Amino acid sequence: MSDPTSPPKGEMIHLENVSKAFGDHQVLRDISLVVHQGEKVVLCGPSGSGKSTLIRCINRLVPHDSGRILVEGVELSDNVKRLELIRREVGMVFQGFNLFPHMTILENCTLAPLWLRKLPRAEAEALALSLLARVHIPDQAHKYPGQLSGGQQQRAAIARALCMRPRIMLFDEPTSALDPEMVSEVLDVMEELAAEGMTMICVTHEMGFARRVADRVVFMDKGEIVEIAPPEPFFTAPQNERTKQFLRQIL
Ligand code: ADP
Ligand code: MG
Repeated sequence: MSDPTSPPKGEMIHLENVSKAFGDHQVLRDISLVVHQGEKVVLCGPSGSGKSTLIRCINRLVPHDSGRILVEGVELSDNVKRLELIRREVGMVFQGFNLFPHMTILENCTLAPLWLRKLPRAEAEALALSLLARVHIPDQAHKYPGQLSGGQQQRAAIARALCMRPRIMLFDEPTSALDPEMVSEVLDVMEELAAEGMTMICVTHEMGFARRVADRVVFMDKGEIVEIAPPEPFFTAPQNERTKQFLRQIL
């Protein structure tokens, strides 16, 4: 018998009336959004609008208060087995690179595959090296994070996330801590990943990237989704006054 609550095929992320408060501060209000397999969503909005909280809810770094979140049909709850499963499927890259400073890039990349996926060391290392090559830093494997540029560190962080073989990647302002000359090397890697069919949600204000890569742009303000549209109409003919004001500020 089929599960009546299971989502239609191809739904990777399903958010239904998701709300979250920190104390009496309502940070997410009734967020509903479905992301399909292979879809790229760019999430933008003013600082404090709830973007980071929203994507952290998707891998349960932050538990939501009400509503439903399903990742590949699995509803997020405190059930630990499911959480482990979700965290394997969903890779995350943050603004700060969050690499362990006392471990080499290779060790950073093999840590989770060794301990969580229980890969044999040789296999984990081969995988890590192939993914470091894919983000164009094959020669940095034996260095420590502090010896790499910001752009290289962020690409290492992407490779580390990919080592878990995720089916969804979440990016939270991955280029906003970078010197300007390093932004494009990170965006290029994300664009390559997008072209390979990865399902992605990217919080970014890099509007060139949004135009090239996004299937849909989601604009959030004050914990609400205010507008969702493909990039062309979003940028050239935004409907909502708050979207227009935001675009005037960033473009
Ligand atoms: P954005 O990523 O869009 O800038 P955030 O999701 O980081 O927004 O934050 C939304 C609001 O929630 C902000 O006002 C922030 O101060 C608050 N907030 C975020 N995380 C916490 C937390 N762990 N505890 C209390 N307040 C938080
Ligand atoms: Mg944020």
